[in-house]
Amino acid sequence: MTDTTQCASCEIVAGRLPAAKLFDDEVVLAFLDIAPVRAGHAFRT
Ligand SMILES: [Zn+2]
Repeated sequence: MTDTTQCASCEIVAGRLPAAKLFDDEVVLAFLDIAPVRAGHAFRT
C-alpha cells in the first residue's frame, strides 16, 4: 500500500476515506458497501 493508491478500499483501511464500519480489528475491516445491492450489503478486507 502506498500514499498514491487510487483504491477506495485501501483509502478506507488507511483512514483517509470515511466509511460506515461494521467491524474492525487487526485482521479484518468490514464496512457498508458504497453501492449496496441490498440493504446491509457489506464489504470486508
Ligand atoms: Zn486496495
